[in-house]
Amino acid sequence: MPSMQTLASEARVRTPATEGPRNLLLIVIDCLRADHVSCYGYHRPTTPTLDRLAQHGVRWSYANSASCWTKPSVASLFSGQHPTAHGAVGGVKRKAAGSGATTDTLRSTAPTLAEDLSARGWRCAALMNNVQLGSFTGLDRGFHVYESQLGKADHIIEAFCDWVRDQTHHPWFVYLHLLEAHWPYKPRRRHVRMFGGDRDSNVFRDFSGRDFGRLRQAVSRRELALTCEQITHMVQLYDGAIRRLDGKIKKILGILEERGQRDATQIVVTADHGEEFLEHGRIGHGQSLYEELIHVPLVTCGPGSPSGIVIEEPVSHVDLGHTMVKCVSGETSMPGRDLYSPNSASAPVLAEVKTAARYRQSLREGPWKIHRTYELNGNAGQPPTLVAAAVGPIHAKRVELYNLSVDPGEQNDLSEKLEFSDIRAKLTSKLTDLSQQTAAEGSDDRPATIELDDCVVRRLRDLGYLE
Ligand SMILES: [Zn+2]
Repeated sequence: MPSMQTLASEARVRTPATEGPRNLLLIVIDCLRADHVSCYGYHRPTTPTLDRLAQHGVRWSYANSASCWTKPSVASLFSGQHPTAHGAVGGVKRKAAGSGATTDTLRSTAPTLAEDLSARGWRCAALMNNVQLGSFTGLDRGFHVYESQLGKADHIIEAFCDWVRDQTHHPWFVYLHLLEAHWPYKPRRRHVRMFGGDRDSNVFRDFSGRDFGRLRQAVSRRELALTCEQITHMVQLYDGAIRRLDGKIKKILGILEERGQRDATQIVVTADHGEEFLEHGRIGHGQSLYEELIHVPLVTCGPGSPSGIVIEEPVSHVDLGHTMVKCVSGETSMPGRDLYSPNSASAPVLAEVKTAARYRQSLREGPWKIHRTYELNGNAGQPPTLVAAAVGPIHAKRVELYNLSVDPGEQNDLSEKLEFSDIRAKLTSKLTDLSQQTAAEGSDDRPATIELDDCVVRRLRDLGYLE
């Protein structure tokens, strides 16, 4: 019996050539980790619609986001570059007390998916609800319509329906970003009940997003230990929110059906990052690069792509822009490789995150994954390209090595085991090379930062990103 990988390779060969322009619909569910999606093996029926889509399209078993929080991750999806290269890598930096905040934005020379498609005649719209993706980030480049704060999913879907109705003369690209699986999770009561919980339980009484920021910090600093009951409740709310969002995907696909555009549209569903529930001592996201944070679902379906296939090869979001533009238009100037091509050699998968205190990297190749953590020691304001160019095996404060084929939860660090020293050395060398290459890609332009207005700062605080 042929292996899954063989089947995948054969299916890639059978992929039909692109026949004329097609629409592209990219749906990103904020915070959706792969192992809470039913077709990725989750024990709860969280995603019946996504499961059906995967049955008719391609399910990528090991897709990684390029970072573990919204802005750098989505910027990698849009630019085909790693966070260090595209520059939208750092979080919000508070200026002196009471005088506002700044944040990094996309480098002006970074390519974007929407610019590439616009130049080829596509009409492009981004319809979202995440203040992290405001036009101040520079991510709006190439879009004809860019709305980052449309509110709940139903408003986004309404806007999608209205906008698509008007696109009668051109192929289109729509980016939809849904926030309901982000804390404070917003499930329906019946969906939480379906998973054995009670939405209105007072386990987290009166916790708003702002409170979650404090809760997350207290847990991370080990000032507060969450009970099993609290974590169980949190996961029930999260799963309920995923189930609710799955219904929204059904609604979106229904709109395409009604308009007779389903067969002319390449559909991509993925997440910008995952969410952690104490697997490595933290909750939320944005701090580290363990699988619960960067292993995301990726399902593609539509004309020009294979049907009913599972691809086991680890892939990165940085190649998705290239793959999708090529799939819908036949050509692309986006960096990266064509994930559908049978001749596309597999590549190690890099992820990065830069917080105020640390810079972390991870590299996956086959079943092996290495992590390196660097202390920034007061240099958090340094341009990301300089930080990434300067790192090497010697300066890392901590190195970890995991074999994901036997330890998918990254609990058994093998970095100090003598028998794995060759693997550690090989991955270390690849990570250093890739890190310097990524830094060089972004060094042709100054990283940009922008001052945030009070309204944006308030909204970020409401999502739990600022004290
Ligand atoms: Zn996010």
